[in-house]
Amino acid sequence: MPAPGPGHRPVGSHTPTSGGLAKAALPYVDAAGSEVAQVYVGNSRGWAMPAGDPVQDESFRAGCAERGVAAYIHASLLVNLGSPTAATVQRSVQILSHALRRGAAIGARGVVFHAGSAVDAGYADTAMRQVRESLLPLLDSAADAGGPLLLVEPSAGGGRSLACRVEQLGPYLDTVDRHPWLGVCFDTCHAWAAGHDLAAEGGMTATLDTLVSAVGADRLKLVHANDSKDLCGSTRDRHENIGKGMIGEPAFAELMRHPATAGVPVLVETPTDRHEGHAADITTLRRLLPPPPSGNDVGRPR
Ligand SMILES: [Zn+2]
Repeated sequence: MPAPGPGHRPVGSHTPTSGGLAKAALPYVDAAGSEVAQVYVGNSRGWAMPAGDPVQDESFRAGCAERGVAAYIHASLLVNLGSPTAATVQRSVQILSHALRRGAAIGARGVVFHAGSAVDAGYADTAMRQVRESLLPLLDSAADAGGPLLLVEPSAGGGRSLACRVEQLGPYLDTVDRHPWLGVCFDTCHAWAAGHDLAAEGGMTATLDTLVSAVGADRLKLVHANDSKDLCGSTRDRHENIGKGMIGEPAFAELMRHPATAGVPVLVETPTDRHEGHAADITTLRRLLPPPPSGNDVGRPR
């Protein structure tokens, strides 16, 4: 493993938990060689909000601390704060407050949720007002509790997305007055699906430059590094192993060397047979890290 420094990017993967949070996830983290673990704390495609097992919670928290592993929660994929259906918005808020509580219990640094969509043409303005009304109280109480950050992840596009292109994150942050508890999770497969040509030489660099000018420095808190099975601009979200898809390895080298990702955890949500696919992708991403600084520290202080 490269020596951690200010420019280091910890690398890891989405981590299965079935069989017990600590019991399943910690051996997976070890087998995959992860420095970052992202978990679900409920059904990924449902509204369930299980209480969690305090013994597993404490053992997961201690196990991550012992290994120096940073933990993140991915909220249910059904969360949509922009939905025209009131019940969906209400349940989305409940899911996010549950995930924030669970995150505090397991020592997670952030809760990732999708930016959402207005679904119907003509609902976009109302949807953004809804995001403000539902997200601000969540952000305030998360900040008061000092627990995990909320991390908005732009979607793959389609369905009147509220944010899929990175420049749309600017208005999204503005709608919650650039609240300090809202960070950004950048997913390479989503950005590609939304039309950012990451495969062109300099394409990943340009996209990250645009992201930084939209959200400001230090707002990027997590990266989902996923290659894609589909064409740029397809709005399809089918992940592929790093270097095996349409985005290609050179783009990930740009990702791992861009100043905006210095110190930011990078995790894969790629296809895997047990942990093997993830372990290989983690190795690939680590190989693409910039060489450790010799003498002069080239890392950007954070
Ligand atoms: Zn993702």
